[in-house]
Amino acid sequence: MNDKIHTIKQWTRSAGKLDISLHSSFKITGTAHKNPILFIGGVHGDEPEGVKMADELLNYLKESPSFSTDWVLIPCLNPDGFKKNQRVNANAVDLNRNFPSICWSSDYEKDRYFPGNSPASEPEIKALVDLIDKIKPQLIIHFHSWEPCIVYSNEKARLAAELFSSMCDYPIKSDIGYPTPGSLGEYAGNDLNLGVICIEEKEGEALENVFPKFKPAFEILLEGELDENS
Ligand SMILES: [Zn+2]
Repeated sequence: MNDKIHTIKQWTRSAGKLDISLHSSFKITGTAHKNPILFIGGVHGDEPEGVKMADELLNYLKESPSFSTDWVLIPCLNPDGFKKNQRVNANAVDLNRNFPSICWSSDYEKDRYFPGNSPASEPEIKALVDLIDKIKPQLIIHFHSWEPCIVYSNEKARLAAELFSSMCDYPIKSDIGYPTPGSLGEYAGNDLNLGVICIEEKEGEALENVFPKFKPAFEILLEGELDENS
């Protein structure tokens, strides 16, 4: 058991007033940032594969000795949606359209993509934007499910994306294929120039398969061995 893990049970609260927890390999303070890898599950509440991936990764990190790379993990950013098996939060906002990216737009085609009334209007996104500013992650990986693919939003994340793709037969994309204004990829990948990877697990994949499939990739990343292996 790794007793060096720091847990904040109520890191922030969702629009529907549910607690959102955060776990990290170091104590997050006002000033210290260690360029960790940031893992995020459950951005979309109707994608249980991504929450399962984050939960299993957290269990694995709890049982493992410390890794050379620091990390921060949010198991479920959207507990409102997860509770109801719906994409959006309690304000009916698609959190992956609410980031304050330069390209944020109030336009949306379907209700499920409602971007909110203004950029970062949602408490989940405000908290995440503050966190990213504070910890300056070297890489952000968020877990979703849809048509299986690995999407990277900045050249800095390409090698890591190739690593995840090598664990499965999912194609790598530098773009999901349609505009996503206000997404994490646009905000952190394009505007902040950080490496961002979106893992789209196969929708409906057996939950017990989700983490083991990618476990070796997480190990390589956390050991800081990606550059040597490339
Ligand atoms: Zn999603």
